[in-house]
Amino acid sequence: MGTLMDAYEILKDLIKEAKRLKNLEMISLSMDVQEKIFEFKEELESVKDENRELKKQLELIKNPSISEDDIKYYPAGFFTLNSKGNKLPYCSACWKAKRIQIPLSRQFKSWDYKCSSCQSKIIVLDEKDREI
Ligand SMILES: [Zn+2]
Repeated sequence: MGTLMDAYEILKDLIKEAKRLKNLEMISLSMDVQEKIFEFKEELESVKDENRELKKQLELIKNPSISEDDIKYYPAGFFTLNSKGNKLPYCSACWKAKRIQIPLSRQFKSWDYKCSSCQSKIIVLDEKDREI
């Protein structure tokens, strides 16, 4: 950001000089450049935010919160954790894509579940029926 602020300071000097010389064309062009600098600064901020988010996701992929050995996948699109007695169903899609552990929420029927993150609708049968 330092270089961008340096450019902005130089531009401010240029505008001051243009005003002193009463050069309207130079003032107008300088104002256009100033606007472009502000737009560039906004774009840079958005790229930085995106980069921060991607770094966070990469960290989760490199250091997953749970081990694959502990996971039991089911064809319906959910998984359970052996260490937790395979009770709570989690969204397989969110785990595979983003390495985030989203417990599924039960809807109106006992077998009807939904992921609150990716909105997947998943059928979770009774524990004894989960085996294939
Ligand atoms: Zn999901």
